[in-house]
Amino acid sequence: MGKTPPEQRIKELRDAIRHHEERYYIHHDPEIADEEFDRLLHELEQLEADYPDLLTTDSPTQRVAGRPVEGFDTVEHLAPMLSLDNAYNEEELKAFDERVRKGAGLGETPVAYVAEMKIDGLSIALTYEDGRLARGATRGDGVRGEDVTANVRTIRAIPLALRGGASGRLEVRGEVYLPRASFERMNREREDAGEPLFANPRNAAAGTMRNLEPALVAKRGLGAFTYQIVVDSSCGVRLQPDQGPPKGGHHKALTAMREWGLPVESHWRRCESIEAVVAFCRDWADKRQTLDFDTDGVVVKVDDLALRERLGTTAKFPRWATAFKFPAQQATTDLEKIEVNVGRTGAVTPYAVLTPVFLAGSTISMATLHNAEDVARKDLRPGDRVLIEKGGDVIPKVVKAILPHPDGKPRSDPWRMPARCPECDSELRRDEDEVVWRCENTSCPARLRRSLEHFASRSAMNIEGLGASLVDQLIEQRLVHDFADLYH
Ligand SMILES: [Zn+2]
Repeated sequence: MGKTPPEQRIKELRDAIRHHEERYYIHHDPEIADEEFDRLLHELEQLEADYPDLLTTDSPTQRVAGRPVEGFDTVEHLAPMLSLDNAYNEEELKAFDERVRKGAGLGETPVAYVAEMKIDGLSIALTYEDGRLARGATRGDGVRGEDVTANVRTIRAIPLALRGGASGRLEVRGEVYLPRASFERMNREREDAGEPLFANPRNAAAGTMRNLEPALVAKRGLGAFTYQIVVDSSCGVRLQPDQGPPKGGHHKALTAMREWGLPVESHWRRCESIEAVVAFCRDWADKRQTLDFDTDGVVVKVDDLALRERLGTTAKFPRWATAFKFPAQQATTDLEKIEVNVGRTGAVTPYAVLTPVFLAGSTISMATLHNAEDVARKDLRPGDRVLIEKGGDVIPKVVKAILPHPDGKPRSDPWRMPARCPECDSELRRDEDEVVWRCENTSCPARLRRSLEHFASRSAMNIEGLGASLVDQLIEQRLVHDFADLYH
């Protein structure tokens, strides 16, 4: 037997690498060890170096090809990326179903839907030309987004080439997200480097996608899910007869996307009626905690694509889809006192010390209060019974005071921001147009990181489950917002 020709070996390696990328990054079920995967990649790199003519842009060795970019170009989407109308409870889901049946003139005939987990990430549009990833763009204002192709290419869940797919041009819609494990690792690294932490995985994913260094983006461990195909009929898309975006049903499109090697979140289900959709939403309201990504609801879409055409869109939303929002995870407890922290920039932020209460898997004894204006607007006072809510953020927030106090406790006086810095006793100041109070003493010990760590371990703050990173995040929350703003 002769030696395998390089063309053939290169193809074998690329197919094998893509297969293992899918096992690892989409199914989270690898078949080989990391070192074996690295060996395949290395062999491919070597062959491509020896035969540069055989190197193509869709080779898995070319994921991080670009140097840092200077900015992002604005690009137009094939069709507007509409947002979805929301349904906040089961009644609203049923009202949506009624509108669909009425709009389609179906009377009492049940409509079949596809229910998918709603990914709390950053919307993207991927353009494939003749089966090759040509462009990745953010949603932007829905009509125009930013070209983030170099960053999208580094996400290993996203195929650089579709398997046996379409020729011509098609756009695939989806969501880039940061898995919880990657989010936690990333914040640990940022903490070690003394950098501001991200408040939640969605902010972190959005910030990462707008980073100008693809090599750094590659290290962050972003994931992606895709959920829709938009075909550009004007430029003559030809689809393989057995694999074209299937007529008849969205569920077939999801299956086809998976066959092309696109990442599709696996828990979607075709539901024969709105009752089945309601049951699905009820089921996942609790079960979502078991997922490795944040989800705040279920996207419900009419399955029949022809029926979708008939229903059309309003100015803002498609009439054939809605986003069911899971009920907020809330609890009531007492606000024992309001304290303030001084951040590294001198920003003074109030936070709530709560009577510990168990909520959605953890004991909560602190909540963020954002700023003094927010406390005043909600008129939160020490001693109040309060409603707290766990959203996508690590630290819960105080929604409102429950008045009067159910135990009949009289209210205390309205809370005021202390006049002086609790750490250095300097007078706190605030600019006219700012909401943030600041300690302007540059040598204020609270503004030094070491004192921050000291603060976290002090007995007053020694509350179970409250690590340095949580305190830091609480303190720096204003800074996180400012930091994210840097990218705009
Ligand atoms: Zn101070």
